[in-house]
Amino acid sequence: MVILLEPDRPDHAAIVKAVRSAAARFAGVKVKPYEFSGTTHAFTEVHLVGRTETVPAADFEAIPGVLRVVRVSSKYRIIGRHGEKDSPVGFDANGVRFDDFHLTVIAGLCAVDTRRNVDAMFSALAKEGLTAARMGAYKPRTSPYDFQGLGAKCLPTVFELAGKRGIRLVAMEVTDIRQIDEVHAALKKAGGPTQVLFQVGTRNAQNFELLKALGKQKAPVLFKRGMGITLEESLNACEYIASEGNPNIVFCLRGVKSHLGDPHRNLVDFAHVPVVRRQTRMPVCVDPSHSVGSMRASPDGIPDVFHATAQGVISGASSVLVDFHPNPKEALCDGPQALTLDRLRPFLDYVGAVRRTYEELVRIVS
Ligand code: PEP
Ligand code: MN
Repeated sequence: MVILLEPDRPDHAAIVKAVRSAAARFAGVKVKPYEFSGTTHAFTEVHLVGRTETVPAADFEAIPGVLRVVRVSSKYRIIGRHGEKDSPVGFDANGVRFDDFHLTVIAGLCAVDTRRNVDAMFSALAKEGLTAARMGAYKPRTSPYDFQGLGAKCLPTVFELAGKRGIRLVAMEVTDIRQIDEVHAALKKAGGPTQVLFQVGTRNAQNFELLKALGKQKAPVLFKRGMGITLEESLNACEYIASEGNPNIVFCLRGVKSHLGDPHRNLVDFAHVPVVRRQTRMPVCVDPSHSVGSMRASPDGIPDVFHATAQGVISGASSVLVDFHPNPKEALCDGPQALTLDRLRPFLDYVGAVRRTYEELVRIVS
């Protein structure tokens, strides 16, 4: 059972208290409040968990400040939409928006290598007014002999340069709980010049201990769909994060493992964008780089990575995670799929055009 409070109530703590005391009359019912910081409004929900079948909704509807009571049959208690079309979607992450109204591009290196490349990347983004970047310090690799990422030792450089170039959010994959603390410690030591968007890679989509640990963080999470599991299993994984207290999750499609996708690295699954948007309140991202895995272009000159991006954005994805590199030959991971910096402006123009078309399509169809 979900009790939705009226948004932006300064007295929300008092309302939660009233809900708690009303719930105390029912045995076997636990109370879990959640705060959602939407882009334009702040929302509070109180979830009643346990034996709620016989709990009357009217008792809670009568509490001043309660907007509505919803009986939840869905297994996605927190991330789910519960049948409402107009649920608030998204959040603000240190000034970077993830919601239905903005298109956010998170571009950068697959893996951190040199200080020079990190700075060239951030400078290029700053020049285009972008404030979100991707930078992998911990790389989960298929072979133990491949480059594993520079790890904690590159974090001071990444955070210092991000701060200098006005990058407000750095998407950073963590593969182990200990790395969460390393990232926090490095951010603190650097004086908090930026913030992180913790990334769960596709290979860790069902690493439940990692998911639960990320659920206890204040920092938002970008969750990559598991490449070899069902969509439902991936959504349940996100519910793990949310159920621990962190509802600020971006759901990222990145293709699925199947030889039917050859010669692309993965089979592009961006037709699932509307499915995730319908079933959940998570903003949806697409990663065309790890889906396509190369810089090959069609005869029209447009790289497959651009085409795949368009498929995601035209379907309603509101963010794009994409690999760029100042010199892909120097890249220590995924160089062949990295766009060069001279492509950044054309990429942004292209994405902007697709987004405007999507908005026009929404007007036409609605
Ligand atoms: C990445 O984004 O760097 C990455 C490793 O992606 P994925 O987990 O989707 O393979
Ligand atoms: Mn990569």
